[in-house]
Parts: sequence; C-alpha cells; structure tokens
Amino acid sequence: MMFTLPEWQARAAALRLRTQIWIDGKAQPAASGARFESVNPGTGQILADIAKGGAEDIDRAVKSARRAFDDGRWSRQTPAARKEVLLRLAALIRDHIPELALLDSLDMGKLVKDAATIDAPGSAHFFQWHAEAIDKLYDEIAPTGAADLAMIRRVPLGVVGAVVPWNFPLDMATWKLAPALAMGNSVVLKPAEQSPLSALRLAELAAEAGLPDGVLNVVPGFGQDAGQALGRHPDVDCLVFTGSTTVGKLFQRYAGESNMKQVWLETGGKSPNLIFPDADLDAAADMAAFGIFFNQGEVCSANSRLLVHRSIAEEMIDRMAARAAAMQPGDPLDPASAMGAMVDRAHTDTVMSYIASGKQSARLVCGGERVTINGSDAYIQPTIFADAAPDARIVREEIFGPVLSIQTFATEDEAIALANDSPFALAASLWTRDLGRALSLSDRLFAGTVSVNTVDALSAMTPFGGMKQSGFGRDLSLHSFDKYSALKTTWIKYG
Ligand code: NAD
Repeated sequence: MMFTLPEWQARAAALRLRTQIWIDGKAQPAASGARFESVNPGTGQILADIAKGGAEDIDRAVKSARRAFDDGRWSRQTPAARKEVLLRLAALIRDHIPELALLDSLDMGKLVKDAATIDAPGSAHFFQWHAEAIDKLYDEIAPTGAADLAMIRRVPLGVVGAVVPWNFPLDMATWKLAPALAMGNSVVLKPAEQSPLSALRLAELAAEAGLPDGVLNVVPGFGQDAGQALGRHPDVDCLVFTGSTTVGKLFQRYAGESNMKQVWLETGGKSPNLIFPDADLDAAADMAAFGIFFNQGEVCSANSRLLVHRSIAEEMIDRMAARAAAMQPGDPLDPASAMGAMVDRAHTDTVMSYIASGKQSARLVCGGERVTINGSDAYIQPTIFADAAPDARIVREEIFGPVLSIQTFATEDEAIALANDSPFALAASLWTRDLGRALSLSDRLFAGTVSVNTVDALSAMTPFGGMKQSGFGRDLSLHSFDKYSALKTTWIKYG
C-alpha cells in the first residue's frame, strides 16, 4: 500500500481531525474551554485547534478510569474476552493505516511512507501480540506442602497514567496501552502536545472495537499542566513515561510528593555503534546511516555516536558522507523524500545550536545546514562530525536530530571505554565477524539492547528499555506486563 504525493495530499485534505478530549467514551471540550494550535512542521501551517486539557480534565479522566476499573467492566472480564476486543482494535488499526500514518506525519513531520509501513502496522502488531499473549499467562502455586495452598496471582494495578513523546506518537502510545489494557487496567493517556491526533483517533477506534467507556481516556495538553497533574494525581496507581531524562526525573518527584505511585521511565539515549575492521563495512555504513538519520534522528535509541577502528576511519567517514548525501530531507508526504521535517521550529533551533557547537569542537564532514521546504524552515541536512573530543557536547548530550559524531579507537578496551562513557545506556551496536569478540564485547557494553551486525534490533518479542539515565522497566515482550500488574498472594490453610 503506497500512494503518490498527489494521492497523499488528497487524502490529507480529506482528513477529519479529532480535536476534543476523550473521556468516558465521549469527545468533549476542556473544562476551561481552552484550546491550542497544532502546527504541521512540514509546512509551518496550522493543522488543528486542539482542546487543551488541564488539571480538571485529568481529574475527570482519572475518576472515569477509576469507576471503570472498580465496577469490573473491563478489569474483571476474562483475559480471553479482553483479547477479543484488542484483536478487533488491531484489525481496525490495519483498516485505517493510511489515515493514522497521515495524522502522525502531518502532526510531527515524519515521512508518511515510514508511518504507513512501520509505525501504523507496528501499532496493530503490538496490540495483536499483547492480546494474544494475555490468555496464555499462567499464575503460580507456591511449594508450601500439604495443608496450605498459596496462590501467587498477577493482578492489574488499577488506574495507569501514560505520558508519551512525539517522535513515534502512535507507537509510543501503543507500547504502553497494549500491555496495560490487556492486563485489565484502565488508562489515562496524555499524548505530547506536538502530536495528539493519532492518540485521539485511536481512542475512538478502541471504542469501536468494544472497549468499554472509561477504560481508555485521552487528554491532550501541555506537560506542565496536564502531564504534571497526571503525575501528581493521588488516585493514579502507576505512571508510565517515555520522554526526556529531565522530565522523567520530574515524574519521580511528582510520585514522591503525592501518593508514591509506581513510576516507570523510558528516557533518553546516546547510543554507540562500534565498527571493527573485519565487519562488512558497506552493510555497517548503510545501517549506521539508517541508525542516525531514520525519523530525522528523532529516535531515543538513535546510533548517534559512531566509534570506528582507527585503521578504517577515513574510509568509513567517506562511506558515511556518501550515505548522508543520499538522505536529504524533503516533503514528508513525498515518497521520494529520505527524511522529513523536525517536529517544530523550537526543536530545530535546539538541534542547530548543537550543530553550531559541533562546528567549534569537531570537524564538519557534511551537512550542518537548515533547509526551507514548502515554506517551512524546520528541516535539517544529515550532518556528520569527525574528530569529536569525548567531552564535546555533541558527544555527550542527546541531540535528538540527524547529527552523527564519529570517534576512533585503537583497541577493544578503548572502544568499550568510549562507548560506556555516557550517562545513558539505552542501546548499542557492534559490527564484527568475530563471534568471540561479538559476545565478549556485548557483555561489556552497558545498554538495554546490544545489536550485533545490525542497529536497533527491536521486536514485540524482546524487551526494550534502558539502564543508567535511559530509564528502567521494559516495554514490549512478556516482561512489559510486569509494569502493569502486581503479584498477589492468597494463602489458604485447609489442614
Ligand atoms: P519530553 O520529555 O519533553 O516530553 C515527553 C512527554 O512529557 C510529553 O507528553 C510532554 O508533554 C510531557 N511533559 C513535558 N514536560 C512535563 C512536565 N513538566 N511535567 C509532566 N509532563 C511533562 O520529551 P519529548 O521531547 O516529547 O521526546 C523526546 C525525548 O523522548 C527524548 O529524550 C527521547 O530520547 C525520549 N524517548 C525515549 C524513548 C525510550 O523508549 N527510551 C522512546 C522515545 C523517545
């Protein structure tokens, strides 16, 4: 399923945008009546006027979620019944792939072709995977011996608050919603202010699939207001967050200063990609370019630090420059574009300030310029720096844009020391044909996921998340259910 630029444009023009808050199965305005503008970064034009949720709306949404949880309309349905509803939702998402892909592309600038082939089908797949898993999880009986029966059951937590970022709006919401709902919780979701449209549409599709009212509420709004209100709400049992490390730390504070709700954080990254001379260097360069320029570099696990063995440094830099030249930004709706627009002008300014600092502290290999397309200057060339010092800002801080820094190493120990010298530990990649080296260095790399001879390996089957200041807790896989359930012991004496 792929359309031409005029076909995508026609579909975009015909879209009906959902712009109200979704509480208790109904679209409604904010209690304050306030609204905010959502701008299409691809054109700089106003896309929609969205209801601006605040503390009062969050409170209404939490109350609705609590009622739904307590009366058991979802939480006490059998796992098999919940599975059926979530499988219907997965099917509805598949039926609406072009629409959902367009919503994300228009909202935050990503390529619609990627949203239509990766994000939206991914969302359907993740709902399906968690739905299919939920009626195959067995509980435990403890080995107490005769006359005692101790059952250890996994039970839902209650009301889950989910706060997500704008880089993969539909998928980040899905990674939280699929396991949380499958487990029987009720959810209040706050999408990022830059990208609320797909989450609002998803809530409507969930209702169409048969999810009872109040089980999923979506409150668009700003972090300071709606996000903080959810983080501090005394009746939220668990807060799951994906976003920046700075805001993640705030959620720990909110929880500590309110009801000690569980907080699970998926935060920033600065992932290293180590290339050894025995690797397939063309494949390594192809994937290294994908690893940093896919989604405009707005990827938490982006391979933003390329660590190359000194003996192949210049040839790898040449290869990377050639890949970058072929990945210039363009209209996000144009299937010929290789990168889309940055999420907004403010973030474009931030990334450009990193590029300016890189020009002072390293050698610019290519790119480095802001580009205007369709009247919007929220586009940035794929940018590569070499000879970056380990303490340069472009090496240490998460840029969240299409900016790669290349460093060199001479020995395995030096490679590991450079790779692990970071406050983040989300993902790492390693390229070598030497199996012993692949295994021993994978052990020594600090990261939630180490990809060998690829980048960013990811699947519904494997846990995703970080260590250090990249967060804790895992999305995806059966382990994702740990965040949305508690272990409950029921001990019966019958002797
Ligand atoms: P952000 O932290 O600015 O915002 C994330 C969410 O938090 C948004 O919904 C926002 O409204 C809310 N928020 C902002 N300030 C808040 C406050 N004071 N109180 C409560 N809520 C607040 O992050 P972003 O710019 O939207 O996304 C980019 C970040 O997300 C990057 O750091 C990236 O690494 C990270 N990310 C991590 C993962 C992962 O799985 N580890 C995945 C995707 C993105």
